[in-house]
Amino acid sequence: MRQQYNCIICGRVSDQPFCQGCMDKAKQYYDTISAFIKANPNATVMEIYNSTSVPLSVIRGIIQIGWMEPSN
Ligand SMILES: [Zn+2]
Repeated sequence: MRQQYNCIICGRVSDQPFCQGCMDKAKQYYDTISAFIKANPNATVMEIYNSTSVPLSVIRGIIQIGWMEPSN
């Protein structure tokens, strides 16, 4: 059985953490977050959120699926 997810951005059921329709957006968010973390290696999730305006649920989701290591 394939694993099912609810897309982190739109909530649609998908076989990936981001559905096809949101994948481009997800990569943009990821680039934004990873650039910020590179410049601010000790940033917390709240600091990332406040500085990048990427939705909190998306930041948490990206960390949860292992795209990003949380700093604390
Ligand atoms: Zn989606």
